Order: sequence, then C-alpha cells, then structure tokens
Amino acid sequence: MKFASEFRDPKLAKALLAEIAKLADQIGASKEKPVHIMEICGGHTHSIFRYGLDKLIHEGVEFIHGPGCPVCVLPRARVDECIEIAQKEGVIFCTFGDAMRVPGSKLSLLQAKAEGADVRMVYSPLDALEIARRNPAREVVFFGLGFETTTPSTALAIQAAAREGLTNFSVFCNHITVPEPIKALLDDPHMCLDGFIGPGHVSMVIGIHPYDFIAQYYGKPIVVAGFEPTDLLQSVLMVLRQIAEGAARVENQYARVVPEHGNKVSIAAIEDVYEKRPSFEWRGLGEIDASGLRIRTSYRAFDAEEKFAIGYAGVRAVVEEAEGCACGAVMTGRMKPPACPQFGKGCTPEMPLGALMVSSEGACAAYWQYGGARAAE
Ligand code: SF4
Repeated sequence: MKFASEFRDPKLAKALLAEIAKLADQIGASKEKPVHIMEICGGHTHSIFRYGLDKLIHEGVEFIHGPGCPVCVLPRARVDECIEIAQKEGVIFCTFGDAMRVPGSKLSLLQAKAEGADVRMVYSPLDALEIARRNPAREVVFFGLGFETTTPSTALAIQAAAREGLTNFSVFCNHITVPEPIKALLDDPHMCLDGFIGPGHVSMVIGIHPYDFIAQYYGKPIVVAGFEPTDLLQSVLMVLRQIAEGAARVENQYARVVPEHGNKVSIAAIEDVYEKRPSFEWRGLGEIDASGLRIRTSYRAFDAEEKFAIGYAGVRAVVEEAEGCACGAVMTGRMKPPACPQFGKGCTPEMPLGALMVSSEGACAAYWQYGGARAAE
C-alpha cells in the first residue's frame, strides 16, 4: 500500500474486524472476561477514538490506555520548575505548543507568559537554537520533553550548540524512555494486561528489541504498530494470534517504517549527549528507576538544571495532584476518563485540570474530542 487512504479502507477494516471477532470467540474473550490490550502510545489512543475502533471491535477486546504521552506523565513539580526558570530575569523559555497549557500547581506556562515571562512556542529545538544565536545577551532555555522520538533532535541541538560554542543556550531535560514504565506496570500486581500495542514512532528510533523483556520475562505479546486504523486492527489481530497460540513474541506490524534495530544515527546522538538518571518521577506512576535521561557532564554547559540549580540538580519538592483529579488512575489504565469526577465538569479542554485533557495525545482529550459530551453524561 502506498497512500494513507489505503490504510483507512473500510472493506479491509471490516475483514480485519471479522477475523478479530472469530479469534476472540475462539479464545473465549467476552464482555465479562475481556482480553486487555494496552496501547502504550497516546497517538494510538487518539487513532482508536478517531476511527471508532473501540466501538467496532469485538466486545471481548478492551483497550487500556497507557502512559505514552510525555506531556501527560510530566509531574506538576516539573511544570513548576519550568515556570521558575521562565520567570528568571533575561530568560527566553522555548517550548513545544502542547506543553503551554499544562497546569502546574499555580500556573501554566501560558499563564506565566501572560504575567510577563518570555515564553515562546517553537516547532523544533533548532528553532530555540536560532533564537539563542539572535539573542546573545539573553539566556535561551529549551524545554526538552518527550520519549525516544524527540530525544535525538534535542541531542542534535545540544551538539550544534557545543560545536558553535554558544554560551547562552541550555536544555531543561525531561526526556524519558518507554521500556521502564512498561516494566513498572507489569510489576504492579493490580494491573491485568494480556498484551501490548507498542509505539511505532519510538521504535523507529530504538528498534523493537528493547521490548524483548516483555515477551521473555513477563510472557506477554507485544506488537509494534502504525497509526492508521488498519494498522491498529492488524496489530490487535497479531496480539490475539499470539494469545491463541500461547506464545509471547515481539512483532513488528509497522515494518514499513520501523527498522528492527532502530536508527543508528539517532541512537549514537542519544548515547553521546545523555545518560540515565537513577530514577525519574512520573505522574501517576511515581519514581521509576532509570526511566529518565539527563545531560552528560561533557555537555553540562548546556544543562539548564545545572545552570539554574533546579529540579533533580537542586532541591525537589513533592507537589500533589489537584483535588479530585484522577490523572494517575487514567494514566495507568485503571480508570477510563469519563469515570473521573472532574471529566467534563471541573476539567474540559477549555479549562483543563489535568495534563491528559490538554495534550494532543492525552486519553481524556481523546474521549472528549470524539464523543466527550456524551461520555460526560
Ligand atoms: S478529566 Fe481531567 S482531572 Fe480527570 S483524569 Fe482527565 S485530565 Fe485528569
């Protein structure tokens, strides 16, 4: 197939749905006893709702929405630290747009901007680098946020800044990794997961083998998937086939984009610039060992944490979630968004209380955008 429309072909989707239904019946999956498949990535969650796959699929298959939205898993303390940096004299704070409205304990970056902080929306860390070149008398800080998908581009910006000898550019590094939170979920005795749909764009960088432990040690199938509706349906079918066989493998449905061993150039940039933190705090999951990246000491001149003695390099305060917010339970798949007492009441896309309602990849935003008012009722 060559064109996006071919991956949205209703005939193909119907055929896949029929095969899924047959297999689900065969393994005894039912509404009362469903197979729980976690789609780790928020982009997958949005595709599922955008194309109504949750309604079309056999009732014995339940999608559990995972923690794969980097904005959503950012704890409030980290947002507060962004604002602390942004409000410093002479700082230009650059961020991707979806982080602008994420609420901290007092303000969002957008509100800090309204109060006078120089917060600018950029599309790439290279935009922030250009702002630094043009403003040598100002300190330009880029909010490095995201999984392995965005980690290499921030690394390239840091390498470029080092090559050019820029002294007014730094990164507030909040890059995180996917395998460790999956391990944390699998170790959680309250979680009941039968298989995973893996994030295709992350595997484009890291390949499929960082997920080997899911099959080998936990005995669960995982299929790395694309983002079109037939990609997702085919991936569900592949997971069910493994369950029917009693097998657990890492499979690659998104082979048209994902190389088995990832992208060597990106992996080399990541290894050059970052090292693992001993642990990192995730909203809803708490501290997870080795799940975050920090900038290596060889690039410490570009580390905003060091420059401003903030966050993990300084003193960290624990900041509780807003009252009545169930982001943690939704994030770990233990609650569906409409079950949150704030959904559609204290929390809407116009007035978000939690990050899951703000981010373009958040599960609450997906429920709201594709049938939110009905769900709220
Ligand atoms: S509805 Fe709002 S408060 Fe509730 S879980 Fe979603 S984002 Fe958090």
